[in-house]
Amino acid sequence: MRIVLVGPPGAGKGTQAALLAQRLGIPHISTGDLFRANLSQGTELGRKAKAYMDEGRLVPDEITVGMAAERMARPDAGHGFVLDGFPRNIAQAEALDKLLRETGQTLDAVLDLEVPEEEVVRRIAGRRLCRTDSSHIFHVQYNPPRTDGVCDVCGGELYQRDDDREETVRKRLEVYREETEPIIGHYRAQGLVRTISAQDGVAEVTDRALAALPVRD
Ligand code: ADP
Ligand code: AMP
Repeated sequence: MRIVLVGPPGAGKGTQAALLAQRLGIPHISTGDLFRANLSQGTELGRKAKAYMDEGRLVPDEITVGMAAERMARPDAGHGFVLDGFPRNIAQAEALDKLLRETGQTLDAVLDLEVPEEEVVRRIAGRRLCRTDSSHIFHVQYNPPRTDGVCDVCGGELYQRDDDREETVRKRLEVYREETEPIIGHYRAQGLVRTISAQDGVAEVTDRALAALPVRD
């Protein structure tokens, strides 16, 4: 199963991608997590990406597409993947179409997570990530860890993302509306878009997402 998750920052893509990946036995591929891992490992790619991330802008396609393609080419992604945060503009969606075509693969669904802006702002304001693995996601109120500041999954330290500050969030929402939202039209033309309300609790949204996936033979 090859799935793309789309939705504004804070919609719950990372949260749902991790759960769907677990349920479907396929990897969760988040370009944001890949950038953050590079950043914490001090790589050249991480250093280049940081300037853009800090400003809430998209990292250039030349960097992003190659990094995503390399991750998708790993053996664990041979039977599918959940893409989270990629593609994020039309050029990336076209690059992904080309890559899939060249490797004889097709997407099964593009899940569009709908959440009102004021809820997205609340979700981002309370978001905490694990320093060891930024795919371990919590919320101080909606999904609190058992112990304050400590990751339930691996015991890592929880922190607030630099780009979750209010002024950066505003820029990221603007970038979403202008650059990312148009990919929904791109995929609608391919008949792949399933829009689901992601306003309710995590488990309910996962059920909705699973129900929206095409039945496999
Ligand atoms: P995205 O990857 O789309 O930016 P995240 O998965 O990181 O979003 O979720 C943003 C924040 O909202 C996190 O703190 C997460 O714990 C919380 N969250 C995710 N889904 C829900 C939900 N259905 N209800 C309430 N809070 C949620
Ligand atoms: P995310 O973790 O998905 O919220 O992404 C955090 C930041 O990483 C974004 O604000 C961008 O600066 C960068 N980023 C993540 N994915 C992409 C992408 N597909 N294209 C460009 N930049 C990205």
